[in-house]
Amino acid sequence: ASNARFFVGGNWKCNGTHASVEKLVQELNAGSVPSDIDVVVAPPFIFLDMVRLSLKNEYQVAAQNCWVKSDGAFTGEISAEMLMDTLVPWVITGHSERRSLCGESSKFVGEKTGHALDVGLKVIACVGETLDQRNSGSLWYTLDSQMQALFPNVKDWSRVVIAYEPVWAIGTGQVATPEQAQEVHAYLRTVLANKLGEETAASVRIIYGGSVNDGNCNELATMPDIDGFLVGGASLKAPSFLQICNSVA
Ligand code: PEP
Repeated sequence: ASNARFFVGGNWKCNGTHASVEKLVQELNAGSVPSDIDVVVAPPFIFLDMVRLSLKNEYQVAAQNCWVKSDGAFTGEISAEMLMDTLVPWVITGHSERRSLCGESSKFVGEKTGHALDVGLKVIACVGETLDQRNSGSLWYTLDSQMQALFPNVKDWSRVVIAYEPVWAIGTGQVATPEQAQEVHAYLRTVLANKLGEETAASVRIIYGGSVNDGNCNELATMPDIDGFLVGGASLKAPSFLQICNSVA
């Protein structure tokens, strides 16, 4: 179980226009979220500054990715240093879409997570298994190896949130049951405890992502090791996202 502050992330993925982002920001600003939770939205890079400057300060922003090294000859990339310089406090690393579509390995995700932390960012690091991995009995092995890739790179766990996102649940409408999610979250906390001790493990937020919506969030939020959510599709609809933020048990 954990004693951590509830955390809700909104991953807007590669969606939005100047007009739709402006509207979403207005709607979020008109809503209210509990003062004792962290709410962090992740717009596409191109809208980050606009969103950061126009969202009210109950909300923070995250980048959806960053580069693994410092500034240099990496055409098309955005560095963690640039995020720091433009006052973006958070970054998502290891999202399953980047692992599968962009070929990011666990080793690469670990190094990127470490670099982002070293320059001062806070990180939402994603792990999760495919349906094949779950069905073939390699669920625990997969999750363990994704976690082990983080340990040599992370010195300060107080700035890390772990997002458990089963690949089969992302964007599919097939949410994990509260029991399935709890089982994995408890496992991930044990992995953390074995490496870092019980006290640190209890302080790290482990959030669930994968087809979370305003209809299933309340039940998931009651689980002892679910410390919040990473929300994709439903984060583009302000009323749903606000309801998810208010699901804190
Ligand atoms: C995500 O992209 O992190 C995600 C969980 O997406 P969705 O909520 O749409 O399944």
